[in-house]
Amino acid sequence: MTKQEIADIYHRPLLDLIYEAATVHRNSNNYSEVQISSLVSIKTGGCSEDCAYCPQAARYQTGINVHALMQVDEVVELAKKAKNGGASRICMGAAWREVRNNRDFDRVLEMVKAVNDLEMEVCCTLGMLTREQAIKLKQAGLYAYNHNLDTSEENYSNIISTRTYADRLKTLQNVRDANLTVCSGGIIGLGETEEDRIGMLYTLCNLPQHPESVPINALVAIKGTPLENQQRVSIWEMVRMIATTRIIMPRTVVRLSAGRLEMSLPEQALCFMAGANLIFAGDKLLTTPNPSFNDDMQMFDILGLKPRKAFKNEPIL
Ligand code: SF4
Repeated sequence: MTKQEIADIYHRPLLDLIYEAATVHRNSNNYSEVQISSLVSIKTGGCSEDCAYCPQAARYQTGINVHALMQVDEVVELAKKAKNGGASRICMGAAWREVRNNRDFDRVLEMVKAVNDLEMEVCCTLGMLTREQAIKLKQAGLYAYNHNLDTSEENYSNIISTRTYADRLKTLQNVRDANLTVCSGGIIGLGETEEDRIGMLYTLCNLPQHPESVPINALVAIKGTPLENQQRVSIWEMVRMIATTRIIMPRTVVRLSAGRLEMSLPEQALCFMAGANLIFAGDKLLTTPNPSFNDDMQMFDILGLKPRKAFKNEPIL
């Protein structure tokens, strides 16, 4: 798909765009199922990278509650709680530049094994990793690896200077080579242009295989980060981004991720209509507040949605 083709979709009148995305979604997926994923920050803060939006970068004074790598049993307890709350996927995030072959990585492998035994989809986001490390994770039972592109290739150096877009793409290739499913998306509201948003979707949709999962995040501006004064994106920008993602990658799970707390129920309903079919739930989305499981269950009831079970990555036709 060309950038122009994606731009033509992105710039459609909003109601036409939502209508088409909803149609694609109904034809490609079981639209009444929304997966609940829970995020566990297994190691928080102290990261050597300089991602301009991130409170976990050691160089920014954000007052974040820094903690070292959690113990395996702590993670398993949180995973059990999340499962009881309806989650079928756990995403374990560590604020690392890259995975190193050390005892911490061995502990992460144990966590993956233990959570996989709970019959939940296990996803990790641990920074850059080699093909060999990806294979080890796969062997431990990992289902997915998250590595976001964040923004377009052209805008990347405005947001992060400590690694390149090519590094990002290399890790995604290593993940694919290990036969893991890929979770990769980005953030809007970083000060990027609409062309950058389209550019990011262009890269994602032209990977050798569409990512199984694409998170669309709205920036949550955190005090102390270089982007602390960024204006919040409007719901219409989120819906436009979600709908375009749904149309160009019909079978991908489109995740309504960071920024959901600021959305009302009708706003979230619009996102589901436009094709979002996964939410992050639980008290915390890495380091920012997120609606609680109970609120989400009420929302599911009102909208007639049901939580999607684990390992149903193949959409129902
Ligand atoms: S690599 Fe991850 S944890 Fe580190 S600064 Fe960037 S987003 Fe934050």
